[in-house]
Amino acid sequence: MSTLPHYQPLSETSAAAPFVARHVGPRDDEIATMLATVGYESLDDLTDAAVPETIRTLSGLDLPEASTEIETLEELRQLSRRNKDQTQMIGLGYHDTVTPPVVIRRVLENPGWYTAYTPYQPEISQGRLEALLNFQTMVADLTGVPTANASLLDEATAAAEAMTLMRRAVRGGPDRIVVDADCLPQTIAVLRTRAEPLGLTVEVADLDAGLPEGELFGLLLQYPGVSGRVRDLSGLISDAHARGALVTVAADLLALTLLVPPGEMGADVVVGSSQRFGVPLGYGGPHAGYMAVRSGLERSLPGRLVGVSVDADGNQAYRLALQTREQHIRRERATSNICTAQVLLAVVASMYAVWHGPEGLREIASRTHRHAATLAAQLRASGVEVVHEAFFDTVLARVPGRAEAVVAEAAELGVNVGLDGSERVRIACDEVTTEADIAVVLKAFGTGLDTGHETGESSWAIPENLQRTSEYLTHPVFNVHRSETSMLRYLRRLQDADYALDRGMIPLGSCTMKLNAATEMEPITWPRFAGVHPFAPIEQAEGYLELVRQLERWLATITGYAAVSLQPNAGSQGELAGLLAIRAYHRSNGDTQRDVCLIPSSAHGTNAASAVMAGMRVVVVASGDDGTVDLDDLRAKLAQHGDRLSAIMVTYPSTHGVYEEGIAEIARLIHEAGGQVYVDGANLNALMGLAKPGEFGADVSHLNLHKTFCIPHGGGGPGVGPIGVREHLAPFLPNHPLLPEAGPATGVGPISAAPFGSASILPISWAYIRMMGAAGLKLATQVAVLTANYVAVRLADHFPVLYTGRNGLVAHECIVDVRPLTRTTGVTVDDVAKRLMDYGFHAPTMSFPVAGTLMIEPTESEDLVELDRFCDAMIAIRKEADRVEAGEWPADDNPLCNAPHTASSLTKDWEHPYSRDLAAFPPPVLRDDKYWPPVRRIDGAYGDRNLVCSCPAPETFQEEGDAD
Ligand SMILES: *Cc1c(COP(=O)(O)O)cnc(C)c1O
Repeated sequence: MSTLPHYQPLSETSAAAPFVARHVGPRDDEIATMLATVGYESLDDLTDAAVPETIRTLSGLDLPEASTEIETLEELRQLSRRNKDQTQMIGLGYHDTVTPPVVIRRVLENPGWYTAYTPYQPEISQGRLEALLNFQTMVADLTGVPTANASLLDEATAAAEAMTLMRRAVRGGPDRIVVDADCLPQTIAVLRTRAEPLGLTVEVADLDAGLPEGELFGLLLQYPGVSGRVRDLSGLISDAHARGALVTVAADLLALTLLVPPGEMGADVVVGSSQRFGVPLGYGGPHAGYMAVRSGLERSLPGRLVGVSVDADGNQAYRLALQTREQHIRRERATSNICTAQVLLAVVASMYAVWHGPEGLREIASRTHRHAATLAAQLRASGVEVVHEAFFDTVLARVPGRAEAVVAEAAELGVNVGLDGSERVRIACDEVTTEADIAVVLKAFGTGLDTGHETGESSWAIPENLQRTSEYLTHPVFNVHRSETSMLRYLRRLQDADYALDRGMIPLGSCTMKLNAATEMEPITWPRFAGVHPFAPIEQAEGYLELVRQLERWLATITGYAAVSLQPNAGSQGELAGLLAIRAYHRSNGDTQRDVCLIPSSAHGTNAASAVMAGMRVVVVASGDDGTVDLDDLRAKLAQHGDRLSAIMVTYPSTHGVYEEGIAEIARLIHEAGGQVYVDGANLNALMGLAKPGEFGADVSHLNLHKTFCIPHGGGGPGVGPIGVREHLAPFLPNHPLLPEAGPATGVGPISAAPFGSASILPISWAYIRMMGAAGLKLATQVAVLTANYVAVRLADHFPVLYTGRNGLVAHECIVDVRPLTRTTGVTVDDVAKRLMDYGFHAPTMSFPVAGTLMIEPTESEDLVELDRFCDAMIAIRKEADRVEAGEWPADDNPLCNAPHTASSLTKDWEHPYSRDLAAFPPPVLRDDKYWPPVRRIDGAYGDRNLVCSCPAPETFQEEGDAD
C-alpha cells in the first residue's frame, strides 16, 4: 500500500507535477522510514492513534479539486483582470508610490528577506534588525520625536494604540479623548471600536474654534488633515497640555519632508502609515504603521522596538529592546496585544528612504506638492472654489450640485478621485502623478490645463511658518547608497547576515514556519492586485471581492464555521475581533455582566492582552501535570464566577503540543455555564482535514494565515488573522464604515483600517488551498504530525519530551525539556539555542510555554535529510553538555556557553579548552557550507539599561571595533 497516493514517483515529476509533492518535503520512502521509527504502518494509522475520536470530523473539506501551479496562476490572473487599473487620487491615507525595482527584486520578492522569522534570536537576525533600526531612525527624524518602534499594523490601529498609551500615561483623570474631525474616517471608526469596551469616550470635534470645553486625557490630530488642510497645531497642542492631556498627531511621512514636524510643535506621540514610502496600495495592505514618542514615554511604547547593545566581544550588535513590555511576559498587564507587526513592509519603507535619501524624498514631496498646487491654481482660475489655502498634496474643491458627477466623470476618464460629503471633491496627488493626470482631473471638472499657470507663487501652498527648516536623515546610511550597485550590495550584505528559511529549517513551535511557495508569492506584485486603492468603488475590485468570498468559504469549510471575516491583519487582531463578537453577543442577550475570560496558564501572551482590550477580566485556569487544562480547577472557577463568565480562550491542540482529550468536555462545561468558547487557531496545522474547531465545540477562532496558510513570516510580519464564527456570532463580525460589503451592518465596527485588512497577500493563502485541495491539505497535516513525532522519538533519549497525549504521541509539535540538563551540567536552554547557530540552525521556540524548554515544530515541508540533520545536531549538543558535566570543559568555558562563534572570534588568540574546529565546524560537513553568525552572544540587559533605538553614529562602531 502506498502511503502517498497523491504522489507521482519522483522520477516522473515535471513542471506539471501536483503541487502537493512540491509542498510536502518528505518523499514516499522517507515517510515510510519515519513511520517505521514512530511505529505505525501508515499515516492514517498514526493520526487515528494521535487524534481523539471525539474531535475527528466526519465531513470532508468542500474544496475544489486541486489545480496545478500553472492553472492556479492563470486563475489568479483572470481574477486580477477583474480589478480595474485606474489612477488612484482618492487620498484617505493611501497614496500610489513606486517601489524601487532594486527593492522589489532584492527584498519584496526575495525569500532571503520574506521567509525570515521574528528576530527573537538576534545573533542571526542582524540584517533585518539593522533595516528596522533604519526604519526607526527614519520615523524619528521625520516626525521630530526621538523614539520610534519597528512598525505597527496600520495607521488606524496605531492611533488606537496611541489612545491607550495616552490613557495609561495620564493616571486618573477623565475618560474622554477628543478627535479632530479632519482625521481619517477609518481611523475614527477603529478608535471607536477600541474605545467602547474600555469605557472611553471618543468625541469628534471641529477644532477651528479651539478645543471643546471639559476635561480630556488625550487629543488626536491629523497632519495634514484628510481634507488636505495644513495648519499650525502648536496652539491646540499647548491648550491640551495645559489641561493635563497628551497629544497624538497622525502624520504623513512624505509631507513631513517639507512641513514642520509634529515633534517641533510639541506632540507627545506621532503615528501614521509608511505606505507611500514604496509599499504598493494592495487594496489596503499590508503596510507598516508607525509610532514614535517623545522622551519619557519609551517604556510605554507598544510593539517591538529595536535597540543597540553589545555582544560577548564588546562589539555593537542589535536586538529587540524592552521585551518585558510585551505580552509574552506581561500578559494581561502588557502595553498592547501586538505580536506580529509589519516587518517586511517596514524594511521596504526604510529602504525607500535609504535609496532616495533626504534630497530624493524632498524632491518627490516637492513634485507631489507642485502638482497639487498647480491643480488648485487651475481650478481657482476656472472659477472652482478650492477650500483650503494651505495644503500639501490634497486639494479639496467645492462644487455644489455636481460633486458626484465630477467624481464619476474622472473615474470614466481613468482617474479615481474622492467624494467628500455631497458638495466636495478630494484630489490627492502622489509620487506617480503626472501633468497628464492633472489635465484629466481638470477635464472632469469641465475645464482644461493652462500650462502658463504652472510656475510662480501659485505652485507653492505651504505657508512660511509651516515650512520645515530642520534636517533629517543625516545618518550616512541614508546618504551613501545612491548607485544601484551600492544599494544591491547593501541589501545583499544585510540579507547574508540573516538566517531565513532559504538556509535551513526554523523549527518554531507555535509559529509554523512552512514553505512559502514561489507560485503563491508571485501574484502579490501584479499591478492589478498591487495597484488597487482600498476605497476604490467596489465595482472596480470585482476580482478582489471574488477572491475574498472564495477564501472565506474555503476557510469556513476547513474550520467548520458558518462565517469568516478576513479583516484582522494579525492573529492578535483576530483575537480582539473574536472576543468583541462574544462580548456583543452577550450584550445582545442582555448579559452585560459577563466579563470574565478564562485563560489557561499555558496560553499565548496575546490571549490575555486581547481579553483586556475587549474589556474583560482575565482569570487564569491551571494546567495539570500532564499539560492539559485542569478540569477541577476549571469547575472551581466556573462555580466562583457564575453568570459573570464570558468566555474561555483555549489553544487547540494546546501549546503543550498535544491533542487534549478534554476539549469537548471543556466546551460543554463552558456552554452549560452560559459562556462562549474561543479556540485560538494558531495550531490549525495539526487539524486541517482531520478536525474542525466549529464542530468540536468552539464558537469562534482566529487562524494565522501567516502560519498555517503559507503567508511568509516576513521577519515579523505581515500577517493575516481571520476569524471564523458559528452562526450565532456572525452578526457581530467586524465591518467597515466605508464599505458595506466588508461585514454585517450589525457588526462590532472595524478592527483594521482597510475593509479587507491585508488584502494583497490573500492570494498567497488562496493559492495554497487551491493547489493542495482537500486531500493535499489533509496529507500536509498528517505529515506535520509525523515529522513532529519522528523528532520526538529521535530526541527522547537525549532530551525528555515534556508532554505526550494518546498513545504517547504528540501533535504537530513537541516540547523537549532542557531543565534536567541544566540541573546536571549548568548548560541552559539559551546555550543550546545559541549552539544550534554554530550547527547551522535557527533555534526552536525558547521557554514558551514552559521556561527552560524548547518547542519544536518541524512542519510538513521539511524532508528527512533536514530533520535528521537537526536531530543529529541536538544530539551532538547533548553530548557536548555531557562533556561539561564530566568536567572535561569548565562550566564557564565550553563550546555551549561561548556560542555562537563568529569567524573573527576564531582568528584571535585561542585559549579555550576546545578546538577552533569544534567551535566552528562541529559536524565537519559545515566546512563546505557554513552560515557564520555575524556577532557573538548579545547582552540584552546592557541594551535595556543604555537604550539606543536609532542608528548609532558610525564612529561608535569604529571605537568598539578598535577596543578589542
Ligand atoms: C502566533 C500566535 C498568536 C498571535 O498571532 P500574531 O499574528 O503574532 O498576532 C496567538 N496565539 C498563538 C498560540 C500563536 O502561536
